[in-house]
Amino acid sequence: MKVLVLNSGSSSVKYQVIEVEGEKVLAKGLVERIGLEGSRLKHRGAQGEIVVEEEIKNHSEAIELILKYLSHPEYGAVKEPDEIGAVGHRVVHGGEKFSGSVLITDEVIQSIRECIPLAPLHNPANLAGILAAQEKLPGKPMVAVFDTAFHQTMPPHSYMYAIPYHIYQERRVRRYGFHGTSHRYVSARAASILGRPLQELKMITAHLGNGASMCAVKEGKSVDTTMGYTPLEGLYMGTRCGDLDPAVPLALQNQLRLTPQEVDHLLNKKSGMLGVSGISSDMRDLEEAAEKGNPRAELALRMYAYKVKKYIGAYAAAMGGLDALVFTAGIGENSPLIREWSCEGLEFLGIEIDDELNRATIRGKEGIISKGKVKVLVVPTNEELVIARDTMEIVSRL
Ligand code: ADP
Repeated sequence: MKVLVLNSGSSSVKYQVIEVEGEKVLAKGLVERIGLEGSRLKHRGAQGEIVVEEEIKNHSEAIELILKYLSHPEYGAVKEPDEIGAVGHRVVHGGEKFSGSVLITDEVIQSIRECIPLAPLHNPANLAGILAAQEKLPGKPMVAVFDTAFHQTMPPHSYMYAIPYHIYQERRVRRYGFHGTSHRYVSARAASILGRPLQELKMITAHLGNGASMCAVKEGKSVDTTMGYTPLEGLYMGTRCGDLDPAVPLALQNQLRLTPQEVDHLLNKKSGMLGVSGISSDMRDLEEAAEKGNPRAELALRMYAYKVKKYIGAYAAAMGGLDALVFTAGIGENSPLIREWSCEGLEFLGIEIDDELNRATIRGKEGIISKGKVKVLVVPTNEELVIARDTMEIVSRL
């Protein structure tokens, strides 16, 4: 089955067409600057890449343009859009309602809408993508795959915050966790590389990209994760602050006279690696600057790895042991330095990195990079493949 995977943001739509049985990407691309000046489509199909610059006013026009190029005689992946068997949508927040992927019905759309207060930036954009796809591919079965779903197995003692209980009851303020599709994929893939059943393993997965989170995966289920009510909690990231004394945002409001919106902007967009280093939010820039002796770049790297290490210890304790630690996403897959520093001094847990394997496992390579009792792996993530697989599985049961 050929599945169109859509990841709709507020001004962008990323897409892939995947032939699921052979796990083959037939075409992929990105529409960006929707509703803004300079909107364009970047598409890679059978005959290479093409960039189309034209006015794209909304998600509906974006999907129409994507379908045009997916069935383009030269660049296309299909002869006609009808060859697409189903559409899989990435949806950021499924609240407490969804613990797995589901066929999209009117009721599901309503539930995604009800989760908008939990993800005010993401869910409206995801919904716009779903409605536009339904309009342009009427009758085509569609599936929603939620970032939060994998973490719905967390027990209450790990997802509750110690604030008055009625706030949870009335507003559903609790830890949800994100990147669930990635944590699910890399934990399953790591088990298969190790040749052991996932149900027997205690694993920590570290998704270290622009956004970053870690997950304690016990017997194939998420039992804790670093992101919380929003993707701001936990590890510190490109521009996000991560864990912080909750009194700090209040102090920023009171002492610097910042509005709640300004504090939100400061913690989400101006903090993290960018905020600490004053150089960049990009790990490559920081590694380069640190190598040249920039002390704040070095500090940013040290802080980053230290946080990862702290959560490794925390999650090993939470699970009562550890069999495998998995690194994934841009930094996890490509930075031997961060992997090394994150694991430094953890020999007492059985974690010992093999320097040569660590240095050699970059740029999309997967494999084991440890020599200790705990297996440390690098597994390139593939969220689109998970979405395509889930979509085919649900649709083929219809
Ligand atoms: P996103 O969350 O946007 O999908 P990615 O998973 O692509 O992000 O990760 C982006 C991060 O990966 C950036 O901080 C980037 O600097 C980092 N990265 C990519 N390649 C390398 C590399 N060779 N060395 C160190 N960091 C890298």
